[in-house]
Amino acid sequence: MITELGRLIARRIALTGPISTADFMAEALGHPRLGYYRRALPVGAAGDFTTAPEISQMFGELIGAWLAERWLSIGAPSPVRLIELGPGRGTLMADALRATRGVPGFHAALRLHLVETNVPLRAEQHRTLGASAPAWHERFGEVPPGPALIVANEFFDALPVRQFQKTAQGWRERMVGVAPDGGSLVFALAPGATPFARYLPDAPEGAQAEIGEAGRALAAAIGARLLRDGGWALIVDYGYDSGAGASLQAVRGHRGASILDRPGETDLSAHVDFAALAASAKAPTFGPIAQGDFLRRLGILQRAESLKARANESQRAAIDAALARLIDPDQMGTLFRVLAVGDGRSSLPAGFSEAE
Ligand code: SAH
Repeated sequence: MITELGRLIARRIALTGPISTADFMAEALGHPRLGYYRRALPVGAAGDFTTAPEISQMFGELIGAWLAERWLSIGAPSPVRLIELGPGRGTLMADALRATRGVPGFHAALRLHLVETNVPLRAEQHRTLGASAPAWHERFGEVPPGPALIVANEFFDALPVRQFQKTAQGWRERMVGVAPDGGSLVFALAPGATPFARYLPDAPEGAQAEIGEAGRALAAAIGARLLRDGGWALIVDYGYDSGAGASLQAVRGHRGASILDRPGETDLSAHVDFAALAASAKAPTFGPIAQGDFLRRLGILQRAESLKARANESQRAAIDAALARLIDPDQMGTLFRVLAVGDGRSSLPAGFSEAE
């Protein structure tokens, strides 16, 4: 089915030629009026997908404890900017703030900054986090300087990626064009060589690869800011430790969908290339490690026990089910990775070990 945004993209292509998958993704997600992340309420049971903070309060609570510990490790600066990239419904941050109320001086030092483009979600964030007087920003670069604690859960996967395929003639970029019928969007390989070939590995014919320039640029901006002003960042997402072919995918109503179908009404995301983010940050990094290992080391099993001690039988079963979803290897425990970026002036962060 072709949407209004689909027609706009097809018209642009007819006028100026095929576009990269990154440009398609940027339009489909970010078009100011019709983009998926401008208008939809994507997260939660009624949306298109469910995220870790929506599964259990334990996720945000443990991340809150991690952030407070990092704040202490850098000398408890006041003020400190607590920055969340893509806060969704505000659930992670609400749980993090509640869990850290007892940390002396932490809340008094915090200035909350939310980087969010989605207007309906900003309204939800106002409901969940309004008491902490957040400032909203369109972009990370707009957040005022100073020591920072940065958290991003399932944010980098929404940033655009280019796709490539190795042919007998070398790497070719996969483009989005318009079918001869003039209306529907189709994939086609660019006929000529790509300037990105020098960043792509030696690979057999048929191999596929992705490069996310926006994610790399953001990781570079985060690393530069932390080195300059101090602080820590925690990036959680599904992804891979290095290179893994074509991962761009479409989801609508909790199901897989076709990438080019119904732009603006479909979530598009790609697995995060953590090696590329770590290299781009040009600051000390820890991980990526598996989400399951990270949460276990932060004490999620003990937290689940203490919640269960105050729960009835059906609540106890729900806590166990949520715990399994977050940490089991065949659920989110292994596919989701955690990367920490630091300022190089402070100690090893909780949950990570020297070897990683
Ligand atoms: N972190 C939340 C939401 C994840 S969904 C959770 O774990 O539940 C991705 C979030 O990033 C949404 O809030 C979405 O509106 C926001 N977002 C996506 N692309 C963005 C962009 N380019 N700039 C700012 N926010 C963006």
